Amino acid sequence: MIVVMKPKASKKQIAAVVARIQELGYQTHENQGTTKTVIGAIGDKDKECLNALIAYEGVEKLVPIRKPYKLAARSSKEEDTIINIGPVQVGGGTFVVMAGPCSVESESQILSSAEAVKTAGGHFLRGGAYKPRTSPYSFQGLEEEGLELLSKAKRETGLGIITELLSVRNIESVVKHADIIQIGARNMQNFSLLKELNVNRPILLKRGLSSTLEELLMSAEYIMSVGNYQVMLCERGIRTFETAYRNTLDLNAVPALKSMTHLPVIVDPSHGTGRIDLIPTMAKAAIAAGADGIMIEIHPDPPKAYSDGPQSLNIPQFNELMEEIKPFVSAAGKRLLVAV
Ligand code: PEP
Ligand code: MN
Repeated sequence: MIVVMKPKASKKQIAAVVARIQELGYQTHENQGTTKTVIGAIGDKDKECLNALIAYEGVEKLVPIRKPYKLAARSSKEEDTIINIGPVQVGGGTFVVMAGPCSVESESQILSSAEAVKTAGGHFLRGGAYKPRTSPYSFQGLEEEGLELLSKAKRETGLGIITELLSVRNIESVVKHADIIQIGARNMQNFSLLKELNVNRPILLKRGLSSTLEELLMSAEYIMSVGNYQVMLCERGIRTFETAYRNTLDLNAVPALKSMTHLPVIVDPSHGTGRIDLIPTMAKAAIAAGADGIMIEIHPDPPKAYSDGPQSLNIPQFNELMEEIKPFVSAAGKRLLVAV
């Protein structure tokens, strides 16, 4: 933190600020310019207590010099984080596809989805067993049974599983069945849940419906601060005034996050648009923007889906998408891994 003193600040006022900073356990570095004195507070303590320095007489402003998200910041680690999940590498020049239904609904539904993901060259099977639904009367997921079905799909296809953890109550069973744990948009700032994620599984952290990138990174920081450095960020659309689509897929977030953090960035054009007709275009746009992967909702029979049918591609549409993205992935200088 830099404390900028007013031009007319007295020696006594400057000394009081310096003394307080040192009392808080920081080193001070004083720089007397031609008109103003600036004081640097150097140290690695909680910055919160320094904010009160603004109340000292003679202080003009406080300028933070370090990002509040230290572990997630690109400045703390130049090179991209690479996460190895079974045979699949996420980040560092590869491009991964996570696909599957919004919810696990039945054995035949999840097994046929898994087969389709595998055949088309996807890398992970997604499917919610615990579903965060706006209405308590909507389908809430098959829960434990859904997790078992995901494991069965993994046994049959070899695909890694990504599924959402909704509550800390289910952490053990989700860890048991998932290769990647999804933290959904609605839980992005569930800090007590984030603090429990010191588990031996990578986390896909979805951006909250109205969260800033800094808030997203602070949530990643929560997970990293408890010792889990395997975090992927997911842009899944934000709420804006636009009503032509379900959410506004904020693709600015991809290059912006790439400069702010070393963590991989995945884009979810299914929730980001809510519209089948927009998904292929926005998936390709995500690749052009620099995403490390995409997450796509598919369903063997979308009109019959229990959740998110209107944004679920059917299998032929998904196959087509997988073909269409190939030249975009190469043009972006990435490798689309071969099917596992
Ligand atoms: C989902 O992936 O089905 C989901 C509920 O996502 P989000 O948390 O982004 O709404
Ligand atoms: Mn969904």
